[in-house]
Amino acid sequence: MSQESFDILVIGAGPAGSAAACWAAKQGVRVALIDKAAFPRNKLCGGLFTGRSRAYYQEVFGQEFDPSHAVTKTDIEFWAKGRRLARLTDIPPVNLTMRIDLDATLLAHALTAGAVDYTGHPIATLDDDGVTLRDSTRLTAPILIGADGVNSITARHLFGAPFDKGTIGFGLEIEARPEEQSPADHPLRIDFAAATWGYGWSFPKQGSTTVGVGGLHAPNPDMKAHFSAYLQSLGLDGAPKRFKGHYLPFGDFRKAPGRGHILLAGDAAGLVDPITGEGIALAMKSGQLAADAAVTSLKEGQPRSAYGHYRRALREMHQSLRIARMLRPIIFSPRWQGAFTRTFERSGTVRMQYMRLLAGEVEYPELARAVLRRLPRYLLNRIKRSRGSI
Ligand SMILES: Cc1cc2nc3c(=O)[nH]c(=O)nc-3n(C[C@H](O)[C@H](O)[C@H](O)COP(=O)(O)OP(=O)(O)OC[C@H]3O[C@@H](n4cnc5c(N)ncnc54)[C@H](O)[C@@H]3O)c2cc1C
Repeated sequence: MSQESFDILVIGAGPAGSAAACWAAKQGVRVALIDKAAFPRNKLCGGLFTGRSRAYYQEVFGQEFDPSHAVTKTDIEFWAKGRRLARLTDIPPVNLTMRIDLDATLLAHALTAGAVDYTGHPIATLDDDGVTLRDSTRLTAPILIGADGVNSITARHLFGAPFDKGTIGFGLEIEARPEEQSPADHPLRIDFAAATWGYGWSFPKQGSTTVGVGGLHAPNPDMKAHFSAYLQSLGLDGAPKRFKGHYLPFGDFRKAPGRGHILLAGDAAGLVDPITGEGIALAMKSGQLAADAAVTSLKEGQPRSAYGHYRRALREMHQSLRIARMLRPIIFSPRWQGAFTRTFERSGTVRMQYMRLLAGEVEYPELARAVLRRLPRYLLNRIKRSRGSI
């Protein structure tokens, strides 16, 4: 059995893991980047890469995002229950990526920065000191970063389960072929109410369109039925056989994403926006913060203080996600959704705020202030309407 020791083991080479490995390697520590998959590999995802993602990408990987493999869009349609609510033609630009390309690029950046490549190496066992690969190689380090996605074995090791079934989200997708839906002729499209506490999307890419439905898992025991209905509404009736599904931690972030010298980042830490479902940006940012905390604790000679540093660094992100969860019922709760979609249809301000949110141009504390400023008038209108109907 061969054995290698490092300063940090990063488990998982998605956006969170590649960001963590790249950021740590740039600071001169020895990092192993381990993934069970050989790259390039796919990952079920809408691939929407927002302004927020582009900003974090530049910060972590030290270069501008290259959109040559992506489609850039500045127009979008919003629908609800088969009715078009709005078409916006001048939105902040968003990129639509294929994760097979995006993640291979992020991994390449991490390896160029000096991370040692252990992708394509399934893990047989994980313990507090490191991992044993299936080929019996033993890798150890004083710090482990679990960036191994929603089904994280690192989170399972720490807490017994990777996520809570009662609060997790779930998404289904297909790649529609150009002959089924031409990506060039269709705008970006979001369908509120395509699932309960969730939504549908149609994202045109290079050579295909990613069509999906996602939302909270518990109130959607039959997400497939929602997806079939959604595909039918788009004229994609022939596609259901090609469904693929994946959990996503739709805003159920872990209050304690680690312990001592073991840190969780990205989906493993539950860091997905509970309104938009965006996870790539927060994965990269949390990977960077985890790497920073790890390097600081190594410099102090106190690897077990890494989690304390990390938890403090995550405060702002956690606060933002808390506010998003507070706002979420306004958009998704079946009780309020009719009022929301009507307001969305009528109010240019609400549409623009939602769009800025989707594009990663506004953060939740700012949005909450704007919503709260409008709320009294909104409540007043509701009261007036309910009095009128008596
Ligand atoms: C249907 C759907 C649509 C989505 N759409 C969007 C979108 O449009 N935009 C957006 O920003 N976000 C979207 N998300 C969320 C986004 O995909 C995730 O938040 C993001 O991928 C998280 O990155 P990560 O690095 O934490 O995890 P992942 O990208 O899941 O990467 C984890 C890595 O860990 C590896 N791994 C797992 N287990 C092990 C193991 N035992 N041993 C070794 N390696 C392991 C995996 O092979 C993988 O490479 C969507 C999610 C879903 C499910």
